[in-house]
Amino acid sequence: MEDLSRLCVHTITTKPWSLEIAVEQYARAGIPGIAVWRDVLEGRSISAVRSLIANAGLQVVSLVRGGFFAAADAAARKRAVEDNLRMIAEAAELGAPLIVLVCGADPAQPLAESRKQILDAIREIAPVAADAGVKLAIEPLHPMYTDTKSAIPTIKSANDACVELGLDNVGVALDVYHIWWDPEVENEIRRCGEIGALFGFHVCDWRVPTRDFLLDRTIMGEGCIDVAGIRRMVDAAGYTGFIEVEIFSSELWATDQSKYLQRIVQAYLEKV
Ligand code: ZN
Repeated sequence: MEDLSRLCVHTITTKPWSLEIAVEQYARAGIPGIAVWRDVLEGRSISAVRSLIANAGLQVVSLVRGGFFAAADAAARKRAVEDNLRMIAEAAELGAPLIVLVCGADPAQPLAESRKQILDAIREIAPVAADAGVKLAIEPLHPMYTDTKSAIPTIKSANDACVELGLDNVGVALDVYHIWWDPEVENEIRRCGEIGALFGFHVCDWRVPTRDFLLDRTIMGEGCIDVAGIRRMVDAAGYTGFIEVEIFSSELWATDQSKYLQRIVQAYLEKV
């Protein structure tokens, strides 16, 4: 019987809730981990957010999401690096040990160029993150997002990036929504563990039929992803960290969020 000790929920999952309500409700549901989306911090004192979360007995698992490094325009690349450096400072102040990176892609240039720019930017910011005690996790995105969101579409490409970078504080965040289709999923999860790069694990499910490729994720067990099977691969690769529930769903956001959170906890216990 699984317990809730490794369960984490992303603030975006319960988007209609304010941070105060989310923290209170997660704590009440026995959820020990919270992944903070950066929009939640806007206009707030980060140290106050840190206290709010700590006082509820929750642990910050990650700050989501940095990256968007690739751009044909050099000034835009510079702005992206500066923004990520600010985010590293925010993570340190918040007490977030990990930043999740959506690496970016610019359709105005070849993917190989976007990939080179991503690695260059990570090389530039990683030492600053290391000094701040913050790890960086490259999240490979489903290839349907390769046009504008990430030139790193597979676990293999994320693992390869980590090997090429050779930096202790740069690894991979695996999200079942992005990796479930990949015939190499088991081999590459194993390899991710072997190279010491498995930094994060995100769960949700792929609704069938999917009506929207961004905002129609669903609760684990309600779609076609073998979430429990991927969980076993991640466990076998040596991952012992939090299991983060990250669901974007306009349908679920329109429902009673307390009942939805109960369904998430139940699904975590039974389907992950
Ligand atoms: Zn994710």
